[in-house]
Amino acid sequence: MIAALRQAGGLVRDSVWPPACLACGHAIARPGLCAACAANWAAGRIERGCRRCGRPLAVGATTPCGGCATESFWNVRGLACVGRYDGVLRDLLLRLKFSASGDVAAWCGAALVEVIARRPWVGEIELIVPVPMHPLRRWQRAGNHAEQLAVEVSRRLERPLRRALRRTRMVPSQTRQASRTARLREVRDSFGPRRRPGVAGRCVCIVDNVVVSGATVHEVSRALRQAGARRIYAAVVGRR
Ligand SMILES: [Zn+2]
Ligand SMILES: [Zn+2]
Repeated sequence: MIAALRQAGGLVRDSVWPPACLACGHAIARPGLCAACAANWAAGRIERGCRRCGRPLAVGATTPCGGCATESFWNVRGLACVGRYDGVLRDLLLRLKFSASGDVAAWCGAALVEVIARRPWVGEIELIVPVPMHPLRRWQRAGNHAEQLAVEVSRRLERPLRRALRRTRMVPSQTRQASRTARLREVRDSFGPRRRPGVAGRCVCIVDNVVVSGATVHEVSRALRQAGARRIYAAVVGRR
């Protein structure tokens, strides 16, 4: 209830006129980003990323890249991401995380769909699956940012949203720099299928806000595989 009221407050704030830049709050003529923030957003975009882990690729580099070639736990066939988790992109994701801004979700969701649409696997996707949030975390936060993004992606790509998974236990969000192995141990078995996941035999795309170590995407895809998903991709806004 409190979260719903906070979210409603966010929606009212979002629709003020004249429009304000989503990142810095300066008054602008058209909804979106001001010129300075738009330039920062564009500079952070990953135009050519590794198809396996999403890291930016140097000119002439092959994919899977050197960064993930030895990482054993990329349990998805491909990962799409918008840009580096830095600058305006990071500001927007933090705003989405803590204020559940519908305008920010729409902006980031549109950018994510633009990136997914350029992937050769876009036509294979049948269902959009958000990374689930633990009920206790949901109670602490203004909204569920991964689900807000997934709703936008589902609407724009015209593929159904499927809340297939649940959190089986609460895991600290990755704010400190843990090693990939330590993080993988931390998130191990923290996701499980809901009673009727509805993904058996289907091709699904996981949606989340950011990838840091890749451990969450790996665990989510493991749970989806247990639920019978046939093929799994992932799409995130930021890549740290
Ligand atoms: Zn701005
Ligand atoms: Zn890679």
